[in-house]
Amino acid sequence: MKISPPVTKKLSDILPIEPTLLMGAGPVPIPEEVARANSIVISHLGEPMNTIVKKIQEMGQYLFQTKSSKIFGISGPSSSAMEMAVTSFLYPGRKVLVLNLGTFSNRFAELSRGVGADVVELFPAPASPFRASDVAAALEKERFDVLTIVQGETSCGIKNIELEQIVKLAKTKNVRTIVDTVCTLSTMPFFMDEWGIDIVVTGGQKGLSSVAGVSLIAFSEEAYAFVQNRETLMPHWCLDPRRANKFWCNHEYHYTAPVNGVNALYEALRLICEETLEKRQERHANSSKLLQTSLEKMGLTLYAPAECRLNSVVAINNPEGINTKELITYIKDTFNVEISGAFGLNVIRVGQMGEQCRPQNVKRVLEAIGKAYVHFGVKLDLQVLKTL
Ligand SMILES: *Cc1c(COP(=O)(O)O)cnc(C)c1O
Repeated sequence: MKISPPVTKKLSDILPIEPTLLMGAGPVPIPEEVARANSIVISHLGEPMNTIVKKIQEMGQYLFQTKSSKIFGISGPSSSAMEMAVTSFLYPGRKVLVLNLGTFSNRFAELSRGVGADVVELFPAPASPFRASDVAAALEKERFDVLTIVQGETSCGIKNIELEQIVKLAKTKNVRTIVDTVCTLSTMPFFMDEWGIDIVVTGGQKGLSSVAGVSLIAFSEEAYAFVQNRETLMPHWCLDPRRANKFWCNHEYHYTAPVNGVNALYEALRLICEETLEKRQERHANSSKLLQTSLEKMGLTLYAPAECRLNSVVAINNPEGINTKELITYIKDTFNVEISGAFGLNVIRVGQMGEQCRPQNVKRVLEAIGKAYVHFGVKLDLQVLKTL
């Protein structure tokens, strides 16, 4: 039996004529320069790739605020960077404390169980971040090898405001730390070396405003030495840092790098360096503040208390009786704007990462949300839209 070709459609016949404005929790819109770079295929070895790789590492050192030379790109989602981190430090007989704040923090627990490590999870009070005192108590009770924590939990819009104290505390107990900065890197202050973090992971399609599929990981020199010297086999071939080191530090073949994605990441990082971290963080803070206060002026309430509210992803309490799925579909169909629902919580989520923090985009998403809720019968005051 032969299988005949299916009926085909051009991509342009599937996509909307006007691109949908992506104001959800990722992926986010990308700058022109990144889009152009993403269309360029070059050889994965030799010049100019060697220079591009070297520059990505230098720019990565600035973003992570580290002097470590062990910064690798990974062909894969942010979760694959998380997986490289977990498999580097954990194997049967080792124990991890997972600070579980929601969906993405929880992924560290799943990944750790997958490699046969002992997993202990800590949960905070509802709608709260982790307190260093709670973590201290957990570290007193048992001996851990590793602690995992997210800087910001995208699924609920909460930031771990005591991240610095928590990772420093772990260090005093000789517990290695893995920090997820997927939705936060470049959007808020982060200091890998100063805070003494062992491994940091981030992705392309969120804070960095690059494309999905090429992620970044930074090992402290000491963390890398641990991996280099460990005798237990690494479970993955693609995600083995010692093999990644061949390409990223020695310019030798590991696997064929996602060359166009690497080019895109290069441009995304270059734009961040040109903007500077200080100005970029200020832009994120101001844009998110405007979004948050405007939503509150309309009469909506936000899920995370102000003191631990993440700038980069804002979770809005969904008023009683509104079906979030219908609301989100209506917003997409009517305004050509995409926002996110949530996993479990009754909230909708709006992203404020990279290109999402532009005045025209904030204005459009506010108008879409305000008008959509009014359409579904929620009583809101939309005066604030006139002031934007
Ligand atoms: C999105 C996200 C991830 C997972 O990213 P993928 O690219 O989908 O694998 C992990 N952590 C955080 C904090 C995220 O926001």
